[in-house]
Amino acid sequence: MTITQETDFCIDLHCHSTASDGALSPQELVERAATQGVTHLALTDHDTVAGLSAAALSAAQKGVTLITGTELSCVWRSHTIHIVGLDFDPENRDFRDALAVQNANRWARARAIADKLGKTGVDDLLGKATAKADGDVPGRPHFARVLMDEGVVRDSAQAFKRYLGQGKPGDVRAYWPGLGEVVQWILGAGGVAVLAHPRKYKMTASRLRALVSDFKQAGGKAMEVSTSGQSSGDLGFLAELCRREKLLASQGSDFHFPGAPWCELGRIAKMPDGIEPVWHHFKSPVGH
Ligand code: AMP
Ligand code: FE
Ligand code: FE
Ligand code: ZN
Repeated sequence: MTITQETDFCIDLHCHSTASDGALSPQELVERAATQGVTHLALTDHDTVAGLSAAALSAAQKGVTLITGTELSCVWRSHTIHIVGLDFDPENRDFRDALAVQNANRWARARAIADKLGKTGVDDLLGKATAKADGDVPGRPHFARVLMDEGVVRDSAQAFKRYLGQGKPGDVRAYWPGLGEVVQWILGAGGVAVLAHPRKYKMTASRLRALVSDFKQAGGKAMEVSTSGQSSGDLGFLAELCRREKLLASQGSDFHFPGAPWCELGRIAKMPDGIEPVWHHFKSPVGH
């Protein structure tokens, strides 16, 4: 895999900080991005914009252009789907209200996850997971870390395989809003809705096409084509899907923590030709 494209800039539109389930603070994240040569970055924490102002300060110091971002959880049919919102107004009142609802949804879900995993025998699982999230609402990776600490599982992969991954007891989806609803939140705040990491849902091609069709119907405009840890086959498949469905194409590392060589800020496989980058359509277009 080669490092990204259009020589004079490097764009990464998907990553996480301690404002959700990442390991680096927004400031550390932007500093690392700058060191990696990223010129344009979107911080896309799960269901929050809490990290954006700290990231913006740091970005101004480092000469990185920060694009507003978030990654919203929703449900479509029986699947949990992630929709990345980009280039929206983070001060938009209705959007803020929606994120407050989403935060309440996350807390209700965290309590449900703790209940469902009661049989692991971990004392005060919710309290310990909340501590891992620095007092904020814990996500599944925070629960995974507690299960590791307590010796219930060997590593995070095993925690997801046994307890938290798709179809396991800790995979509680009942609290998420519908796909159309979260797309409308993003549009209402003047942003672009991007279908995140389409291969991660492990859907058949026909189901994925149905998802893309509903997403477009709801007002979705783009999909991630190039993300970390994808095979070149996946890249080709997604590029073709993107072309055929006339969506704009996005790219992002989905960086969560340092030390994973297959996932680094700005290290994104070059997108195939013939697809239109979403960043050409930002309010301040990039590279166009
Ligand atoms: P949540 O938003 O709390 O449902 O957590 C979703 C996050 O959990 C994803 O963004 C990943 O960071 C992480 N995750 C999901 N599935 C796995 C998995 N199978 N192995 C490791 N991490 C995962
Ligand atoms: Fe995550
Ligand atoms: Fe995601
Ligand atoms: Zn992500």
